[in-house]
Amino acid sequence: MAYRNFSTAQLQAIDAAHHLHPFTDHKDLRQAGTRVISRAQGAFVYDTDGNEILDAMAGLWCVNIGYGRDELAEVAAEQMKELPYYNNFFRCTTPTPTLLARKLAEIAPTNVNQCFFGSSGSESNDTALRLVRHYWVLQGKPDKNIIISRNWAYHGSTITGASLGGMSAMHGQLNGAVPNIRHVMCPYAFELKHEGESDHEFGIRAARAVEEEILKAGPENVAAFIGEPIQGAGGVKIPPASYWPEIQRICREHDILLMLDEVITGYGRTGAWFAAQSMGIEPDTMTTAKALTSGYQPLSALLVSDRVAEVLQEKGGEFYHGYTYAGHPVACAVALKNLEIIEKERMIETVRDVTGPYLASALKDALADHPMVGEVRSFGFLGAIELVKDKATRARFNRDEGMVVRDHAIASGLMMRAVGSTMIMSPPLMWTKDTIDLAMRRARKALDLAYRDLTA
Ligand SMILES: *Cc1c(COP(=O)(O)O)cnc(C)c1O
Repeated sequence: MAYRNFSTAQLQAIDAAHHLHPFTDHKDLRQAGTRVISRAQGAFVYDTDGNEILDAMAGLWCVNIGYGRDELAEVAAEQMKELPYYNNFFRCTTPTPTLLARKLAEIAPTNVNQCFFGSSGSESNDTALRLVRHYWVLQGKPDKNIIISRNWAYHGSTITGASLGGMSAMHGQLNGAVPNIRHVMCPYAFELKHEGESDHEFGIRAARAVEEEILKAGPENVAAFIGEPIQGAGGVKIPPASYWPEIQRICREHDILLMLDEVITGYGRTGAWFAAQSMGIEPDTMTTAKALTSGYQPLSALLVSDRVAEVLQEKGGEFYHGYTYAGHPVACAVALKNLEIIEKERMIETVRDVTGPYLASALKDALADHPMVGEVRSFGFLGAIELVKDKATRARFNRDEGMVVRDHAIASGLMMRAVGSTMIMSPPLMWTKDTIDLAMRRARKALDLAYRDLTA
């Protein structure tokens, strides 16, 4: 590899001179410097200083099968030699997106059988927004175009993604969001549940906030509701079991399409192919990306329900939308192999029946009693740790405690992420019970060190 001719310091200097990074304070980065991750194997990533870090984030929620699966490299090389690129425009197709689309229909909820490819979650959410609005135009209801989303939602970082999302800091830099998108409360029980309210009641109340917004706007003006089954980048906010069935009822009752963003939850993370199946809901669109290829190639797929796809086919007229790399043959070949590995190695069943429940109890046993832990929660292979100064009142430190824990975690050999005062985890599905135990020991150590710093 060409980079081996460079020292870590050289790579860092070149990076500082030329590379602008995503979601970064560049002044801060230039001072702190970058960590150069240069290789990975199984559950671990390695930096150029030789440090081994257990990757509890699976890259960015995507490396579900783990690192170093040569089968994916081999199919990519084979496909590149045979047909490195061709487009799917002008009545052409290529074999791998065709076969991948059939595979996705097979594993998706039964009412979902078609898909539209892109290269990122953000792109596919743009497709989803256009498609949903186009659907209502084709139905003769062009005014039915408001989308209801939620606070703390993350739907990507293009103008469409940021507009659909509910991150106030991102909205602050938009200088003009996509119009007709409204945001309501999210089902974040740790902060929003009232005293004496049950989880069930809270879930219903949070869902009814969507209904209230629909009624306020007039159902004849509302196209769709969009939500991540579990809010990921917003802090692994897991809704009570009552939430999604109530959302489904509300969407049906008011004839509103249900858009799920399964970019994180898709492809096994919740112990089913899709969270829609874990939660028993029937979406009209499902945005998927990340673990579709386990991150080995950039690829996204917007899965589309029969209800929506059939209107496109029956009414006709060109849908003026698509990307050069939509259905890229190499990315689709890699996705097919990735899904085959997930299936053959029974990774989803293992998360559902063995390691997911084990992670849930390990978080409780190893971390819940820690003086700065207010709550641990998980669903499948998504986990969160709430950091508090006072367990009884749930008061926060209000001191960047997430960053303090994160830095100690990385120094202790555990890649965890902080969202405000919440630590989050999204491990590869191939983690064993032993890997979970190792993660818990390193997390405990990071919490101890952070607690020492924060209470000094
Ligand atoms: C990551 C993410 C996206 C955006 O995907 P990109 O590939 O980064 O554009 C959208 N929605 C959710 C839920 C995500 O986690």
